[in-house]
Amino acid sequence: MTFTPHGKHLIAGEWVAGDQTFQSEPATGPAHSYSVGTVALVNRAAEAAEDAFWTYGYSSRKDRAAFLNAIADEIDARGEAITEVGSAETGLPAARLQGERGRTVGQLRLFADHILKGDYLDRRHDAAQPDRTPAPRPEMVMMQQPIGPIAVFGASNFPLAFSTAGGDTAAALAAGCPVVVKGHSAHPGTAEIVAEAIKAAIEKTGMPKGVFSLIQGGKRDVGTSLVQHPLIKAVGFTGSLGGGRALFDLCAARPEPIPFFGELGSVNPMFLLPEAMTARAEALGTGWAGSLTMGAGQFCTNPGIAVVIDGPDADRFVASAKAALEASAPQVMLTPGIASAYHQGEARFAEAKGVTTVIASKSEGREARPNLFETTGAAFTANHELAEEVFGPLGLVIRVGSVDEMVSLAKGFAGQLTATLHMEPGDMDAARSLRPVLERKAGRVLVNGFPTGVEVVDSQVHGGPYPASTNFGATSVGTLSIRRFLRPVAYQNLPKELLPEV
Ligand code: NAP
Repeated sequence: MTFTPHGKHLIAGEWVAGDQTFQSEPATGPAHSYSVGTVALVNRAAEAAEDAFWTYGYSSRKDRAAFLNAIADEIDARGEAITEVGSAETGLPAARLQGERGRTVGQLRLFADHILKGDYLDRRHDAAQPDRTPAPRPEMVMMQQPIGPIAVFGASNFPLAFSTAGGDTAAALAAGCPVVVKGHSAHPGTAEIVAEAIKAAIEKTGMPKGVFSLIQGGKRDVGTSLVQHPLIKAVGFTGSLGGGRALFDLCAARPEPIPFFGELGSVNPMFLLPEAMTARAEALGTGWAGSLTMGAGQFCTNPGIAVVIDGPDADRFVASAKAALEASAPQVMLTPGIASAYHQGEARFAEAKGVTTVIASKSEGREARPNLFETTGAAFTANHELAEEVFGPLGLVIRVGSVDEMVSLAKGFAGQLTATLHMEPGDMDAARSLRPVLERKAGRVLVNGFPTGVEVVDSQVHGGPYPASTNFGATSVGTLSIRRFLRPVAYQNLPKELLPEV
């Protein structure tokens, strides 16, 4: 391997070893030792971040843009080694890691451009009206300001784009907020090499060292003490509902509660309307199978549920999905723990009341094979567990009797990252009755596509009502995600010379 990890934490510009170590669990290649994070390191990193905020938080947009671009350049300079270590740790193919690196550096550069434009400051101005009666009006200026040090938790399934230098870090640094990353135990080597790139960018652009720290995990008290640290002002989290909810509750219970921006799991229901099914049931079945199995189904946007109207078109759809899923090769999952959770999910569905098995694959070890099940609208509504995410390539077809039943089923869904309609022009009336329901349920509503890919653009929303995310007003992808780390401040009657230079 071109990169051999040393296994240390990066605390305010220094590589720091700890007393205890944990072993990585790579999908291929040798395991490595990593220092276990400690509460003392969390304190050091948070204090350094607060120190750094007093300069970084007031730095020019031009300097921060140069810093973001430098991080992107340093990541690209380590491209091959990042792909190698990332692929070995996660089992994701090299091409996927290369694509994800492109997305990661693209996000950093997008934020550099975005802050240079300045629109994100949302500057507002109301001129003074000294002659207004009965009382004069003061001059008011409003703009967004960075909120302080941010804690970031990356996800196992996106070792680059939702991790050390991923979307949360890019958005926080763009806003002017120092970042303390809690490394994910699924890819500590990938975290280390990306932290090395950020360290190099800090040195090249002369940024304060405390602007970024990486604390490897190994023990749960790193994460819990980080979100409870009084100097941390918000948290960006991507991961499971269980983990996210535990950390969200800690943030809310702090003496000074702070916002917790958790992007959690989702089952991303698809509604297949009658004309679309008549026109292309087979193609929809094959397309769904491809989306379900992509990356071993380890996507938060994996469309785990397909709602169809019972009948011959539904039979064609299921037969085609079944054939495509059976032809797909088994895949290695990200961690042994994720594989074991998937195997439990398979068993739970196979035994669930009112569920018919179409494919029961019984995956073993760290491997995932696809599973396909069917149920009815009534059985689904009666069993809440069927609406819970199984992280992996598991699909559930829900057969309903009519479009009206589809609409009432949709009303019963919890919050989702995405909701999809497959339709033809003749389905417009049905689509019109579903759209208002779906937009109340999901952050992104899409037509005639699969939700797995998430475009990184200005108009993206990757979030949704709970439990898709813990803050339905926020997105973790796209330029709007910078708003999570900003706070509006109004300046009343400040002389021009005293207003912040931004
Ligand atoms: P995870 O197990 O929740 O881990 C995420 C991070 O939180 C890790 O650093 C983990 O630490 C930490 N953590 C978890 N529970 C904790 C607790 N109780 N106390 C303190 N720290 C805790 O999630 P994952 O395995 O990385 O990702 C899989 C899940 O993420 C899936 O459900 C998927 O749908 C979701 N996901 C969502 C999105 C999105 O954008 N919405 C994107 C990708 C994935 P350790 O390293 O010590 O375990």
